[in-house]
Amino acid sequence: MTQSAHQKNVMIPKTYPCPRCQTRTPWQDNPNKPFCSARCKLIDLGAWANEDYKVAAEETPFSGELPE
Ligand SMILES: [Zn+2]
Repeated sequence: MTQSAHQKNVMIPKTYPCPRCQTRTPWQDNPNKPFCSARCKLIDLGAWANEDYKVAAEETPFSGELPE
């Protein structure tokens, strides 16, 4: 196999795929990076907040005092 010419660094010049919608977005002059837009950024932050809330809810001190 001689495909050394197709390296990842060559495939990604100055753009990157949005981790939310995979839209290729320029890295420079982008206040919402690593996302393509503020919408994707808010969606991702919302997902993180929701997941954090679920984890916190499961770690309540009351769970260790519940009798079997
Ligand atoms: Zn996006």
